[in-house]
Amino acid sequence: MNIILLGPPGSGKGTQAKRLEARFGLLQISTGEILREAVIADNELGKKIKSTMDAGELISDKLVLEVIRSRLEEPDCKRGVVFDGFPRTVAQAKALEEIKRAKNEKVDVVIMLDVDDEALITRIEERATSAGVHGARSDDTVEVLKHRLQAYRIWTAPIIPFYEDRGILERVDGMKDIKQVSSAVNKIVDTIKNN
Ligand code: AMP
Repeated sequence: MNIILLGPPGSGKGTQAKRLEARFGLLQISTGEILREAVIADNELGKKIKSTMDAGELISDKLVLEVIRSRLEEPDCKRGVVFDGFPRTVAQAKALEEIKRAKNEKVDVVIMLDVDDEALITRIEERATSAGVHGARSDDTVEVLKHRLQAYRIWTAPIIPFYEDRGILERVDGMKDIKQVSSAVNKIVDTIKNN
């Protein structure tokens, strides 16, 4: 099974992806995590992307697709994947469709976490303060969040009609508490599993 979690920054994709991983034995693939690891390792990829990530802008489709293509070759993906933070552009969504088609696989469902902007700013402020100076992600400031929201609106939101057209988009109210969101998400996944 292949699931995409879609939603603006701070909508809870990471949290819900981890919960799906634990409940359904799927593998969470977070492009943000992979890219952050490259920045920490200060390798060739990390050097190319650090300033773009810190500014809250999107990494090029070319680089992200290189990363994802190589990650999807690893055997642990066979148990099924929850994509968290990927795809983020229509070009990425189309490329994923091709990658899956070539393996005779498909994206089964795209779960959209709906959260309003004001709640997002509050969440990110909380995340920035609770992580403290040491643990905080360098892109977890209100200023950078605004860039990330803007990037989401321009580049990522057009993915919604792309998947609606394919009849695989499901919406969940991401304003509810984590457990309620989780149970709505589980219900969607259970239905797909049983069909
Ligand atoms: P995330 O952890 O998903 O919020 O991602 C953190 C940052 O990594 C984003 O603000 C982007 O700079 C970069 N990033 C992660 N995933 C992608 C993607 N699929 N396409 C482009 N940039 C990405």
